[in-house]
Amino acid sequence: MGAMPTASQSAGVVSFEQAQGIVREYCRRIPAPLAQEITLMNALGRVLAEPVRADRDFPPFPRSTRDGFAVRAADVVKVPAVLRVVGLIKAGGSFDRKLAAGEAVEIMTGAAVPAGADAVVMLEQTAPREGTAREASQVEVLKPAAAGENVVAAGSEAKAGQEILPRGTRLSPAQIAMAAGAGQARVKVFARPRIAILSTGDELVEVAETPGPMQIRNSNSYSLSAQVEAAGAEPMRLPIAPDEPRKLADLVHAGLSADMLLVSGGVSMGKFDLVEAVLKNMNAEFFFTGAQIQPGRPVVFGQVTLSSEGKGFSEARKPLDNMGTHPGQHPLKRFGGTIPFFGLPGNPISAMVCFDLFARAILDALSGSAPQRLPAARARLKKDIKTRTGLTRFLPAVLQGGIFDPEVEAVVWQGSGDLAASAQANCYVVVPADRDSIAAGEMVSVLMRS
Ligand code: AMP
Ligand code: MG
Repeated sequence: MGAMPTASQSAGVVSFEQAQGIVREYCRRIPAPLAQEITLMNALGRVLAEPVRADRDFPPFPRSTRDGFAVRAADVVKVPAVLRVVGLIKAGGSFDRKLAAGEAVEIMTGAAVPAGADAVVMLEQTAPREGTAREASQVEVLKPAAAGENVVAAGSEAKAGQEILPRGTRLSPAQIAMAAGAGQARVKVFARPRIAILSTGDELVEVAETPGPMQIRNSNSYSLSAQVEAAGAEPMRLPIAPDEPRKLADLVHAGLSADMLLVSGGVSMGKFDLVEAVLKNMNAEFFFTGAQIQPGRPVVFGQVTLSSEGKGFSEARKPLDNMGTHPGQHPLKRFGGTIPFFGLPGNPISAMVCFDLFARAILDALSGSAPQRLPAARARLKKDIKTRTGLTRFLPAVLQGGIFDPEVEAVVWQGSGDLAASAQANCYVVVPADRDSIAAGEMVSVLMRS
């Protein structure tokens, strides 16, 4: 990856919008990852490395969208009209000749409308007339049908050869359905990036351990791993780093064998916040060292460039080889030795918010995905919010109500360390930086959580 544009070169505290801009610009410079072929059944959440094309016209034949009678629209201009029923077509079946004037063919949903017919009258708009031995069945059409009614023309959804899912599409169920419909039992997708997760802090113990009275369980490695996995990448969890420069540097170094490194904790102004210093020592470039957001103000974004001689480090070391580096997938080969990193504030909600706001976009780019917008919506605020101006705020909140009257209410919380409050929330209410209050009843922006 090349140098960042001038606007992004000066590290410092930036606005939310600037931080987003810097991240977006960085994403544009990330080259496409390696591709691999997998079965469609395993492709949920993966990113297409090759487009999916229609292998034939969609639909391949004029498709009836109703159970009813295929007719010539001209025959049913005046109603009621009595037509001769000359056959029956079920889905998958066909009719062997062209429909003549005065004729109708009984047809099922999904069946091919026969030549000569140009409309389907729904069953509900007809009355049967039983035939006798001498006379064919008849049907009485009660309502006129316009040409094209209840018929999807061949090729009107997609033409054979047309690109339907571009390269860079992340496969959700709807895209999987399309790929399946186009016969792609296997798809070419990009390799999933590996995202290293490093929690720092002397107070931390692993989740299975019993914490001492002043110790805290390392929940961030779990939440970040879950966010990484939910975003379609592979988390690589490192052991807890103590607030001690050498050990921290070793673990940061190990993390740099992944495609991106997320460090949690140690980026604030405290005496033991060593992450920035350790990264600086590795000649890291910083694109921002804070964003005017809450929670998440101390968030740091930058990159480290490794070189094969180990330059870029104060002491030439090799990445620890017990950290599960995949042979042939090392970023030195994949991305020219440049690894983006985030220093995420240690407070659990701050780390989660910063992942959603910034790290997720880089993860997408490393996955070969086209840029995604943040999943935002609008809802009516249920309860007043009072705050201060200056920071764009993302307050854990509950989005409820129906489809036509979504309502949102910020949860009561004790700040960005409040895991319990955060676990009640399903979204964030976004308070713009220039607002110190929002009254109940106002429409507000809501950021959905990952
Ligand atoms: P820091 O950003 O290191 O100053 O940490 C801010 C707050 O987040 C402190 O209360 C830490 O104990 C807490 N914290 C830091 N890392 C973690 C973690 N991995 N899991 C849970 N809480 C954490
Ligand atoms: Mg700390």
